[in-house]
Amino acid sequence: MVAFRKRLALDRSLLMAVLLIGSVFPVDLFPGSLPAPKGIDGQYSGKQGQIIVVKIPTDDVEARVQGNFLDRTVTFFPDFRQGEPKGFVALLGVDMQDEPGTHELAVEIRTGEHARQLSYNILVVKEKFRVEHLKLPKDKVDLDDKSLVRWKMEQEQVKEALATDSRMKLWQAGFLEPVTGRRTGIFGSVRVMNGQARNPHNGEDIGAPLGADVAATNDGVVRLTVDHIFSGKGVYIDHGLGFYSMYFHLSDVLVREGDLVKAGQIVGKVGATGRATGPHLHWGVKLNGARVNPYALLDLPFQQTGLHPKEQIPPQPVLSAPGTDSLGSPALH
Ligand SMILES: [Zn+2]
Repeated sequence: MVAFRKRLALDRSLLMAVLLIGSVFPVDLFPGSLPAPKGIDGQYSGKQGQIIVVKIPTDDVEARVQGNFLDRTVTFFPDFRQGEPKGFVALLGVDMQDEPGTHELAVEIRTGEHARQLSYNILVVKEKFRVEHLKLPKDKVDLDDKSLVRWKMEQEQVKEALATDSRMKLWQAGFLEPVTGRRTGIFGSVRVMNGQARNPHNGEDIGAPLGADVAATNDGVVRLTVDHIFSGKGVYIDHGLGFYSMYFHLSDVLVREGDLVKAGQIVGKVGATGRATGPHLHWGVKLNGARVNPYALLDLPFQQTGLHPKEQIPPQPVLSAPGTDSLGSPALH
């Protein structure tokens, strides 16, 4: 008993000594013993369906910078513009259905064998999307068995084509609206058909005359051209690092898979193919697996000065597309 008391006293004095040393020398006495608090390196915020420009300061142009946000891989590219703070930038897509609240963006900066971890808080702010109630004849809403099989195969085709992101950033400063027309503001809206909620509308519809030119929003490579049950004739452009733009319901497709396209190049004509009630362009954008409002591209701070042309990032491991994929979702487009 006495021995126990003695030890307790000894422990106590040891603890006091540690506390004293700690207060006199405010250093980490046990380096690496505790994980750094989440979000310690900064905070960003953005609404559902928007794009957040994240900048990681570093002088090391040779570094490889990669992030993880809600299990989606976010790849950074070097931004060493004159007059701008040196570092790496990522376009972080907030999916239209990401849970509102604070989520961590974990970033790793790797130079050779050396790796450094950073942690940012991303506040996802709720967006108010429209809810539309529609009553339609049953055969207009539900797919018959044959169509359902076709739709599933088409979804697989898209998933496969978009599974491997181009490792280079192909886009340049300055994004274009693919067609001038009436924006319907339908992005993210939920359609309730005959009382059943469908997937939210994953792009923006632009009303334009039949046969109007549809231009690529930026440079990229045509990853896929389709004639699908919902999207109709469509073009998928890969802009690199997990960034894709999509153009649906075309009357004509004027590019082929593998074609390199420049911003403003005509890739097709406005049509009403697939499930469309009239001629319009369905314009969609996917960023690292997140469905974002394509018009968010036009607000990006990469409009005037631009990054260095043909800026490339060092080779990176092949990134696979995240699991959740709602491209070609069974919603009316
Ligand atoms: Zn649409």
